[in-house]
Amino acid sequence: MDAAFFRDWMTAAAAVVETQRDHLTQLDAAIGDADHGINMARGFDAITAALEQKDTPTPGSVLTLAGSTLISKVGGASGPLYGMALRSAGKALGDTADADLHALAGALEAALAGVQKLGAAREGEKTMGDALAPAVSALAKALAEGTPADGALSALAAAAQAGAQATISMQALKGRASYLGPRSVGHEDPGAASMALILGALRDVAARRAT
Ligand code: ADP
Ligand code: MG
Repeated sequence: MDAAFFRDWMTAAAAVVETQRDHLTQLDAAIGDADHGINMARGFDAITAALEQKDTPTPGSVLTLAGSTLISKVGGASGPLYGMALRSAGKALGDTADADLHALAGALEAALAGVQKLGAAREGEKTMGDALAPAVSALAKALAEGTPADGALSALAAAAQAGAQATISMQALKGRASYLGPRSVGHEDPGAASMALILGALRDVAARRAT
């Protein structure tokens, strides 16, 4: 997977975030302040623009630019957290021109570590980490079992989706939704939902390129 692949991923993520903008905002309306779709759409719009303007010769440089853009353009909790995730992933990829699945798995692990460090959320606290953590584990497991790329990335995306669904029954212990206490139960976490969309875009881009 070269820099163009990672740029395609960011573009595909921007498209799905735009399509699901109102849905993400509605999820945030239930347990937050109804801006998650707006924040994510604004952020990924800015990422697309930045990628058009600046040279990103390596996979790492694509994700690092994307992360820095989110940090500078998006307020709220999600901007810095997604920014940290993407920057950590970019840093983990280093200068390689072509990242294999193992490198990608390492980068997503670094993204999770970055989110956990900045947000201090543990698993089960109803955050974007509850979609990212099971996805990272599913990819590692698939690789350990020798699953081919398409199956491994499908497992990643499916685990993220299942993780997002699992936040419905959780009580939020971090972020704005935690102010609701037990009333946060029964709603999908918006950040977990957007994480599942972004990892779904990764699977879709890989599948498109393989055919
Ligand atoms: P804000 O909460 O500032 O309005 P957004 O609505 O854009 O920002 O994003 C909310 C999402 O951010 C939540 O659904 C949750 O997934 C994520 N989030 C909030 N706090 C944390 C945290 N401490 N760690 C990880 N994710 C968090
Ligand atoms: Mg919000």
